[in-house]
Amino acid sequence: MADTVILRGLMPTASMNELYGEAIRSESRKQTGRGTTNVSGATANRRTLTCGDSITVEITTRSDGCGIESVTWDGEGCSVMLASASMMSEHVSGGSLIEMRESVGRLRRIVTEKNTPVLTRRPYEAALGSVQLFPNRRRCAMLPWEALEAAAELTES
Ligand SMILES: [Zn+2]
Repeated sequence: MADTVILRGLMPTASMNELYGEAIRSESRKQTGRGTTNVSGATANRRTLTCGDSITVEITTRSDGCGIESVTWDGEGCSVMLASASMMSEHVSGGSLIEMRESVGRLRRIVTEKNTPVLTRRPYEAALGSVQLFPNRRRCAMLPWEALEAAAELTES
């Protein structure tokens, strides 16, 4: 009995996993921001060898060079990757490059943590943090954000 309490303190419970699983499933169908134009923005492509995910992310920056006009993407992959791309597009579009880099760093820490409760007010961090329990899916969750970082670097060169 005592063991059960300790485990609940350290790891997400089954019901939490189902909740995040549902968030990932519905977001992977929503696919916010899907569709790249390859006209106005900078693009970068990333893929996972283990899962077979592939994504191209396009970032269009504002004329001031600091703000993000839009982030779109196109690709194929598992529901974790598709959901992550959808959440990313929704979260970073309209923000700044500095905020975007901070968000990528935060998510990378959350995703690579080991069975640590995710304390956040950002729903996408809680949902994607559930891959802590599935180490081979961490790359799937980070893939769109890695492509975004690479595309953003191109806008600065
Ligand atoms: Zn995947």
